[in-house]
Amino acid sequence: MATQTRESYRKKEEEEQPSKKWSLQDFEIGKPLGKGKFGRVYLAREKKSKYIIALKVIFKEQIEKYHLHNQLQREMEIQSSLRHPNVLRLFGWFHDEERIFLILEYAHRGELYGELRKFGHLPEKQAATYIASLTQALAYCHEKHVIHRDIKPENLLLDFEGRLKIADFGWSVQSRSKRLTMCGTLDYLAPEMVENKAHDYAVDNWTLGVLCYEFLYGVAPFEAENQTNTFRRILKVDLSFPATPRVSAEAKNLISRLLVKDSTKRLSLQKIMEHPWIVKNANPTGICID
Ligand code: ATP
Ligand code: MG
Repeated sequence: MATQTRESYRKKEEEEQPSKKWSLQDFEIGKPLGKGKFGRVYLAREKKSKYIIALKVIFKEQIEKYHLHNQLQREMEIQSSLRHPNVLRLFGWFHDEERIFLILEYAHRGELYGELRKFGHLPEKQAATYIASLTQALAYCHEKHVIHRDIKPENLLLDFEGRLKIADFGWSVQSRSKRLTMCGTLDYLAPEMVENKAHDYAVDNWTLGVLCYEFLYGVAPFEAENQTNTFRRILKVDLSFPATPRVSAEAKNLISRLLVKDSTKRLSLQKIMEHPWIVKNANPTGICID
C-alpha cells in the first residue's frame, strides 16, 4: 500500500470511528452539567482510560418530532471531523432505543455567558483574546467549508485554563428557525440572515462584531424590547457606543469594521488577526490569566 493510500485509509478509519464502538457501559456517569432544549448533559468518565468527558443525551422522540434526524447526523459528522484547539471536540456518538449520546470534550469552566453575566463586561485583553481565539477557530472552519451560523455566548464554553471552545455545531441551521419560532433572540444574526437572503461565510464575521461589542459593553449592540425592533436596528446597522464602560478607540474601530451591512465589505478573518487592537491585546496562547 502506498504511503498516501495508507495515510488516507488511516484517516478514513479515524473518521469512521465515532459511529461504531461506544455504549453506555463504557462510561461512569457523574453530575449533571446542564440542560438543553433536547436533552441533558452529564459529566462522565470513560471506564478504561479514566478520561473525563461530557455526555450529551438527546431523546430520539424529540428529534423525530422536529424531523431533525438528518440534520443531526450531518452536523455530528461535521463536528467530529473538526480538530482545532478552540473547537469543542465531538469524540463520538452512540445510541440505544430511546436516546442518542454525544461524547463531548469536557469544558471545565462552562459557558462564557456565565462569566459575562458575573462581571458585567470583560477587560479588553480578555475580550481580545476570546475574539482572536474565535477568529482562528472560524478561519479553520471556513477552510473546511463549515459556517457555524449560531455563534453566541451560550455556545461558547471555557476549558479549565479558560481557553475558548466553540460548541453546538449540531444546531447551527436548526437553532435559527427555532429562535425565530420560539421567540428567542435575534441579536446575533447578520442582516442578510434576518432578511432570509442567501448568505455565506461573512455571517460569522458579523457575529464576531456583535460578540466583541457584547464582551466589552455587556449588552448586545442591537438589543431592543422586542424582535421587531431588534430586526429594524440590525437592518439599519443602528450602532452606537455608550460612554461607559470606557472602551478604546481601537476596539470601536474593529467593531465598526465588522458590523457592516454589505457582507463583502466586512473585515476578513485574516485582517482581524492583524488589527492593532488584537495585536496589542490578545494573548497568543488563547489563555486569559486574570
Ligand atoms: P441545545 O444545544 O440543545 O440547543 P443548549 O445549548 O441550551 O441547547 P446543551 O448544549 O445541551 O444546551 O447544553 C446544556 C448546558 O450544559 C450548557 O449550557 C452548558 O452549561 C453545559 N454543557 C454542555 N456541553 C458541555 C461540555 N462539553 N462541557 C461542559 N458543560 C457543557
Ligand atoms: Mg448549547
